[in-house]
Amino acid sequence: MSGRVYLVGAGPGDPGLLTARALELIAKADTILYDRLIPEQALEGARPDAELLFVGKQGGGDSVPQEQTEKLMIERALMGREVVRLKGGDPFVFGRGGEEALALCEAGIPFEVVPGVTAGVAAPAYAGIPVTHRGLSTAVAFITGHTREDAADDDRKPGEQGDEQVRDAAERPGQDSAQQDGDIDWSALAAFPGTLVFYMGVRRLAQIADSLIAAGRSAEQPAAVVERGTFADQRTVAGTLGTIATLARDAHIKAPSITIVGAVAKLGSELSWLADRPLAGRTIAVTRARAQASELAGRLRELGATVVQAPVIRTSALPGPPIDPAPYDLICLTSPNGVDALFARLDDGVHPPGDARSLANARIAVIGPGTARALGAYGIEADIVPERFVAEGLVEALEQTLADGPVQRVLIARASEARDVLPDALRARGAEVDVMALYETAAEPLSENALKGAREADYITFTSSSTVRFFLAAAGVSAGAPASAGAEGRGAQAHGATRGGVELLSPGTRIVSIGPVTSATLREHGLEPDVEAERHDIDGLLDALLADAAALASSRER
Ligand code: SAH
Repeated sequence: MSGRVYLVGAGPGDPGLLTARALELIAKADTILYDRLIPEQALEGARPDAELLFVGKQGGGDSVPQEQTEKLMIERALMGREVVRLKGGDPFVFGRGGEEALALCEAGIPFEVVPGVTAGVAAPAYAGIPVTHRGLSTAVAFITGHTREDAADDDRKPGEQGDEQVRDAAERPGQDSAQQDGDIDWSALAAFPGTLVFYMGVRRLAQIADSLIAAGRSAEQPAAVVERGTFADQRTVAGTLGTIATLARDAHIKAPSITIVGAVAKLGSELSWLADRPLAGRTIAVTRARAQASELAGRLRELGATVVQAPVIRTSALPGPPIDPAPYDLICLTSPNGVDALFARLDDGVHPPGDARSLANARIAVIGPGTARALGAYGIEADIVPERFVAEGLVEALEQTLADGPVQRVLIARASEARDVLPDALRARGAEVDVMALYETAAEPLSENALKGAREADYITFTSSSTVRFFLAAAGVSAGAPASAGAEGRGAQAHGATRGGVELLSPGTRIVSIGPVTSATLREHGLEPDVEAERHDIDGLLDALLADAAALASSRER
């Protein structure tokens, strides 16, 4: 029996605008065929063994031809696979979804359509522009500004186009390839009694505006262009039909962009709500493991940042015999990974394996609130959470515990590579200490793109010493060797310096460290952190980063 194909809209870019149905289908798909204009995080929830096929336009090259995409989709469905065909925005709005549905019909393959939030409504909304508004506009027209001329242009000089330009071509609706410029009925559009929303064709803005004005639309009418709407780096340019093309050109507006023409466009200045986000326009690289990065990345996005995911670490639980916690009167957990890894092997021979009751007799100390939360997920409240979230802080907190009553036997569950501050301190106080390595961290290779993005980011965040080491390894700097950035003694200014011909970070990139241990590792490698969190957790890191961004912004204004 053939599988089903789902034509799914992924929304305009903000991952929060993926529908619940889209997420559900992505999570269970066998095969996902996706375009370029989908939110970067859209595929994060896919099954690890799912087949992910990119069918959009790659760099300056060609996109997978439409027939090829349809063929792939049909082939996979005939193999019995559940196929998600994931498209930017809504699949039936300038997305060739209709053509693909027809092809599926013809092949007798069952399909479903999952509408998405379309850019023509969402991009204006994120710029504070309602596409209809009582008293201002009672109708809205969605128009493609792309014509055959652009298609030819795209083919002719791909090298000169930015990615965005290429996307524009990749996403153009099929019927356009047969469309002549003259096919757009300018006088009908000029006379349309409502808002005009143009998809694509941002490079032809001047022509579009001129044609509308020549056909009788007032040059004084408000107009706006929204570039990369709903993405963290969204930009809006507003003016009138007469000025918008020049304004957009001066601002170097590129695809993907939506152009809005009509009285509603002027509401944007009043209703714009995005620009106020404190990290708007900043790019921030996150180096921690993908599994742990989502909280930090999500919070950064909420603050308006564009996040570059550059996970340099992967953690995996180490296999080993069951762990009987009964002999221990104190258990120390130094990371959320350690918590999960402990529960995976917990077995006291009395309760079922992994049962929290087997920990009933031990006091449990955690290194910080993240670990406490992970423990809380198993229904256990940590007895000891230090004020400083480093091993030394935990040692201090344990002094009190040790003073309250002697500790005989301690289990420290942690990563295979970790500092010995804690076991040494406990042993020095007479405890018998078992250190168990429950998981290991390994380098995760970075894609060219991720590495480039991280190097050019406004900020790069390091949330542990291993993120520093593994980032340097991924960047081609051998771990253990001090980077040459400090050679000129310029410290923070010098991380544009090269080592072994490898440029580490762009000179403007600011280094953010979660705390003194991570900072020390950075310095060991010749990198001076620009920002160090006072509280050594994600909240603390965000506070420090926000303060730095605000200080930078105000010093630039001065
Ligand atoms: N099916 C998509 C549209 C595909 S056509 C949808 O429903 O949104 C591609 C065009 O959509 C781009 O050239 C651009 O005009 C517009 N577009 C897509 N995403 C956009 C975004 N995030 N911001 C602005 N315009 C966008």
